[in-house]
Amino acid sequence: MVNSTQSLVDQFGRQVDYIRLSITDRCDFRCQYCMAEDMTFLPRHEVLSLEECARIIKVFVHLGVRKVRITGGEPLVRKNALWLFEEVGQLTGLKELVLTTNGSQLEFKADALRKSGVKRINISVDSLQPARFKSITRTGDLAKVLAGIDSAIATGFEGIKLNTVLMRGINDDEAVDLVQFAIDKQIDISFIEEMPLGEVNHSRENTFVSNITTLKQLQSQYSLLETKHSSGGPAAYWQVAKTKTKIGFISPHSHNFCESCNRVRITCQGELYLCLGQDDKVDLMPLLRAFPNDDTPIIEAIMNSMKIKPKGHDFDLQRPRPAVIRFMSHTGG
Ligand code: SAM
Ligand code: SF4
Repeated sequence: MVNSTQSLVDQFGRQVDYIRLSITDRCDFRCQYCMAEDMTFLPRHEVLSLEECARIIKVFVHLGVRKVRITGGEPLVRKNALWLFEEVGQLTGLKELVLTTNGSQLEFKADALRKSGVKRINISVDSLQPARFKSITRTGDLAKVLAGIDSAIATGFEGIKLNTVLMRGINDDEAVDLVQFAIDKQIDISFIEEMPLGEVNHSRENTFVSNITTLKQLQSQYSLLETKHSSGGPAAYWQVAKTKTKIGFISPHSHNFCESCNRVRITCQGELYLCLGQDDKVDLMPLLRAFPNDDTPIIEAIMNSMKIKPKGHDFDLQRPRPAVIRFMSHTGG
């Protein structure tokens, strides 16, 4: 590998030290806000091999990246995914290996993931009502996810956080129940505003719930203290007084967080997206395959990509078409 001490700084002076890598576009769920009911998934040869995923991560760590999130699709449905965690979990220079999962496979995988070096884990849960959970995810079994959460807690990760997308008229009456669940389990929770990524079966303008509304609702039930806590991401955190639980709000609409953006995303096809909400990208897969033993062209492509990282997203729920055609499951949440 080329010896480079340069770090990744974009045209606006923002340092990129965090990558999110989607290792599959496939998923055992079909969450209403994330996927269409009928999805066509990529053929195997168009998806990065796990060896290619490991190579990309190593190059980024070499370029100063300190935090890597493995995501998807559902990362834990990828065969042999654990190999990748073991391969990168102990990399010198990498401070945090973290995972976002729907929790369906966690019951039996949490322990091995922790041992591989995964420090923190985000588990998506949008409802605590089994029938509603099934309806939102279209296929999901809440009992399995809850068993996965318990298994993760028993394993002792440094941090466990629930991720929740509230949708008006669908699950926006559960904010308090979900927070109380997090308090009881002594874990954190973040509310993510629904983003217009990919075309789904509902109008996002109709289902959108602002985090400002959710915060007000929670403040009427709990004493919340604003904190300066940062997980290196865009969430603003509030501590629930006298508990171990922090509540995060990821609010791309009501609070634009692009100014301090420190991340880029890589799809399972090796597309390096410079912004979740824009189409600027660089294709790394052709370089990976054309230069199997030389990282120089990949390093150069990544460093050059910093010149096209956009200033910010451009989400507008009133637009008839989504801002970005690709689903979150493609880009990696
Ligand atoms: N399957 C895993 C999971 O559900 O956690 C990882 C991938 S999923 C794409 C990552 C996160 O993106 C989840 O927390 C999910 O709720 C969120 N997400 C998906 N589509 C979204 C959208 N359109 N707007 C906001 N969040 C979304
Ligand atoms: Fe699958 Fe996660 Fe998307 Fe739900 S949010 S469909 S679990 S990738």
